[in-house]
Amino acid sequence: MAVQETSPILAELERVVGGEHVLAPPPAQYLSDETGRGLRGTALAAVLPGSAEETAAVVAVCYEGGVAVTPRGGGTGVVGGAVPDGGVVLSLERLNRVRSFDPLLWRIEVEAGVTTGRLHELAAGSGLMFPPDPGASEQSQIGGNIATNAGGPHAFRYGVTRRWITGLEAVLAPGRLVRLGGAARKDVAGYDLIGLLTGSEGTLGVVTAATLRLVPAPEARHVVAAVYGSDRAACEAVERILGSGIEAAAVELLDATAARLAGRGFPGELAPGALLLAEADGSEAEAAERRDALVEALAEGSAAATVEVADARAAWRWRDELSFRLAAVEGGKLSEDVAVPLDRLADLVEAVPEIGRRHGLTGLSFGHAGDGNMHSSFLVDPSDPERFAAALAAREELLALAVELGGTIAAEHGVGSVKSGRLGDQWPPEAVAAHRAIKAALDPKGLLNPGKKQ
Ligand SMILES: Cc1cc2nc3c(=O)[nH]c(=O)nc-3n(C[C@H](O)[C@H](O)[C@H](O)COP(=O)(O)OP(=O)(O)OC[C@H]3O[C@@H](n4cnc5c(N)ncnc54)[C@H](O)[C@@H]3O)c2cc1C
Repeated sequence: MAVQETSPILAELERVVGGEHVLAPPPAQYLSDETGRGLRGTALAAVLPGSAEETAAVVAVCYEGGVAVTPRGGGTGVVGGAVPDGGVVLSLERLNRVRSFDPLLWRIEVEAGVTTGRLHELAAGSGLMFPPDPGASEQSQIGGNIATNAGGPHAFRYGVTRRWITGLEAVLAPGRLVRLGGAARKDVAGYDLIGLLTGSEGTLGVVTAATLRLVPAPEARHVVAAVYGSDRAACEAVERILGSGIEAAAVELLDATAARLAGRGFPGELAPGALLLAEADGSEAEAAERRDALVEALAEGSAAATVEVADARAAWRWRDELSFRLAAVEGGKLSEDVAVPLDRLADLVEAVPEIGRRHGLTGLSFGHAGDGNMHSSFLVDPSDPERFAAALAAREELLALAVELGGTIAAEHGVGSVKSGRLGDQWPPEAVAAHRAIKAALDPKGLLNPGKKQ
C-alpha cells in the first residue's frame, strides 16, 4: 500500500493515542501471527488506542489519509489475517476492560482486547461458561474470536462465537463508533449486521466491545476415548453418536497417523489406531448417563474398538498441545481447516494420507470431527523449499477435495491472506459479487485489512 506523507499521519496518530502508543517502526511481534511458514508483513507503525473513542479516531485519521488499517487481537490466527501489508497495525490490546458483568442474568460486556482465557475464568468464577474455546485461548482476544467467528471443540454442542453475541460495538469506515444490539437476548430488526461483522476478519470494521451471553457451566464432564483399527471405522463411529441421539458436548478425532505421531502423553492407555474423543457433560446424572450412552455407541458394531473413560481435564490439556506436537515431528506443518458433511468425513480423512504420499509427504487429519471440521495437515519443515512446494501442491488437492465433497475450504480459521482469492472455488459468481458489494459498501476506500477475506 503506497502511503504519502508518512510523518504527518504518524504525528496525528500520536496526538490521538499519545506518543508512547504509536510504535514506529513496529516491533516484530506485530508483523506476524501463528501461521508460520515465514509469513511476515510490513507496517509503518503499530498503534495502540486506549478506548473505543480513540480507536474510532485512529480509523478516521487513517481513512482520511488513505492509510491501510490491519486490526490485531492476540495474533493467534493461522491464516495471516493479522499480518499487515503496509499501513498501520491497530492493536486492541489496551481495550481490556470488563464493562459490566451480570452473572444472575448470564451476560457480560467486555472490550475487544480481553483474552478468551480471562473471559472463561471470569465466567467460571460465577458458575457460568462462555462456550467458544479456540485452542490458543490464553493469548487470543474476544475481538479476534468475533472477527474470525471462532469455534473450537465445544462448538459441536454449543455453536460458534456468533451464537453468543447479543451486542457489538464497532468502528465502521470512515471512523464512526456504532453500537449494534445490546443486552436484549433477541433482535431481528434490520439485517443481521452483527452477523456480518462477526467473521469478517477486520475487513468491514473494527470490533471494540461485545455483550455476550453466558450459560451455567455443566456440573460434570466425562471424556470417552475409543480407538479404531481404521480411520473409516472411527468416522463411522462419529455418525453413530449422532444416530444414537446422544447430545455429546464435543467429538474430536485423531486419524491413525496423528495418533501414532502425537499420542504420547495421553492420559490413558492408547492402542494403535485412530482415536476418537467424545465428551459428555451436564448435571452429574446427565453427564453419567450420556457417558454410558457414548461408551455403548462407540463400542457398537466394531470389535476393534477399545473404549475407555479418560480424565476430562487432562484429556483436554493434552488435546490443546496436539498441534504443536505434530508440528514438532518434522519441524513444521502445512495445516488446513476444511469441513465436509459428516457422511463424507471418512472420504476426506482417508484421502489425506494418500494425497501426502503422492507428494512424498506425511498427510494426516485431526480436529473437530463432530462438525466434520478437520485440520488436515502435511508435515513439512517450511525452510526446505522443495518439500514446502510439494506441501503447497498437496494443499491444493486437499482444498479442491473439500469443495468436491460438498464442504468448505475455511471452517473456523478464516480466509486471511493465505486463502485469499478462493471464494469462487466454492461460491457461484453471483455470491462472490454480493460479497464484494458488501465490502465496497462498508469500506469504499478498501483500507480495512486489504487483501484479506476476498
Ligand atoms: C494452537 C492453536 C489452536 C487453535 N485452535 C482453534 C480452534 O480450535 N478454533 C478456532 O476457531 N480457531 C483456533 N485457532 C485460531 C485462532 O486462535 C482463532 O482464529 C482466534 O479467534 C484468533 O484470535 P486473535 O485474537 O488471536 O486474533 P488475531 O490473530 O490477532 O486476528 C485474527 C483476525 O481477526 C482480525 N481482528 C482481530 N481483532 C480484531 C478486532 N478487534 N476487530 C476487527 N478485527 C479483528 C485480524 O485482523 C485478523 O484478520 C487456533 C490457533 C492456534 C495457534
